Amino acid sequence: MTDSRIDLKSLTQAELSELLTDRGFPKYRAKQVMDWLQKGAVSADEMTNLPADLKNFIQNYCYISVSIIEKKLISRYDKTVKYLFSFADGECVEAVVMCYRHGYSICISTQVGCKMGCTFCATGKSGFSRSLTASEMIAQIEAAQRDLHVRISNVVLMGMGEPLDNFENVVRFLQLVTSEQSLNIGARHITLSTCGIVPKIDELAAYHIPINLAVSLHAPNDEIRSRTMPVAKAYPMEELLRACRDYFAATGRRVTFEYALIAGVNDSDRCAYELAEKLKGMGCHVNLIPVNAVEGTHYTKSSVKRQQSFVKILAGRGIAATVRRTLGSDINASCGQLRRNHINFKKEDE
Ligand code: SF4
Repeated sequence: MTDSRIDLKSLTQAELSELLTDRGFPKYRAKQVMDWLQKGAVSADEMTNLPADLKNFIQNYCYISVSIIEKKLISRYDKTVKYLFSFADGECVEAVVMCYRHGYSICISTQVGCKMGCTFCATGKSGFSRSLTASEMIAQIEAAQRDLHVRISNVVLMGMGEPLDNFENVVRFLQLVTSEQSLNIGARHITLSTCGIVPKIDELAAYHIPINLAVSLHAPNDEIRSRTMPVAKAYPMEELLRACRDYFAATGRRVTFEYALIAGVNDSDRCAYELAEKLKGMGCHVNLIPVNAVEGTHYTKSSVKRQQSFVKILAGRGIAATVRRTLGSDINASCGQLRRNHINFKKEDE
C-alpha cells in the first residue's frame, strides 16, 4: 500500500518505543499504545489514557490496519468459515477458518493475487496486485477472532499469494504474531506454504524460526512439474529438495510436501514410485490433495481408487502420506475463486 504514514501494527514494541522516544514521548507510552492495539483499537481516539499530543501524532502520522468483512460463507456441514476481507485501499483477500479437535486454525493470504502462475490455481489466474503488509496479515486473524468470538491457535500461510515472494513482510509477520505483545501464537503452530523459491527457503532457514514448511511439489519430476508450475523452470527439484533437507537440519521441523492429485496429469502409479524414490530417507510427510475444479482449466479430481493406490505406493516405501480431509466442501471453491467472483460481480455492477 502506498501510504507514507507509519504502519503502527507492523512495528515491534522496541521499534514503537524508539519511534515515540525519538519524538520526545516517554518510553512507557509505547507499552500503552501496544496494549490498545492488542485490544483492537482502530483509532487514537479510543486510547483514552494517552495525552492529546500523542493522540495527535498518531492521528496525523500513523495508521492502524484493519480488515473489513466483505463476504462470509459458512459451511453447512462443519464449522468452516470462508471470508473475503478488504483493506483501506479496497483490495480484497481470502481467509478460511477451520475447526479441528485441537482448536481453530486460519489460512491467511500474504498477497493480493500472485505472480507465480500455477496453472491449477484460481489466484494465479487473477494476476498480481500487491503484497500485504505484516499488519494486514495480522488483521485477517484479528478480524476472524472478533467475528467468531474464538481464539485462533494455528495459522497457515497458504491463502492467496506466495509468502516467500513477500519475504520481508512475512518474516516481520512471523516475528510479530509469535510475540507476547501481539497474538502470541507459537511458531510450531504456524505453517508457511511455498511453491518452492529455493533461495528464499535458504534465507528463511537462516532465521531459525521453528515454523513448519509446506512445499507445493505436485509432481515427481521437473518435466511434469514445469507443466503446471512455472517456478519449476527456475528452481529444479533437485535444488528444491536440497533446500528442504537443509531447512529440516536448521529448524528441526519436518517438511510437508503438498501434492495436488490431478487426473491423468500426475496421479499414475509410475508418478507415485518416482516420487517415493526422490523423497527416500527424508524426514517428510506428503499431503495429497484431490484438486478442486478451477474455472477455465480442464483439470479434474483423481478417482478415489487412484488416490488410494498413490498413498499405498508411498506408504509401502516408507513415505508418510495422507489424503487431506476436505473441510467446508460446500464452500470450498478453490483459493482465489471468491475474490475472482467478487471482482467480476463489481465489474458487472459498474
Ligand atoms: S498455487 Fe500458490 S504460488 Fe501458485 S499461483 Fe496459486 S497462490 Fe500463487
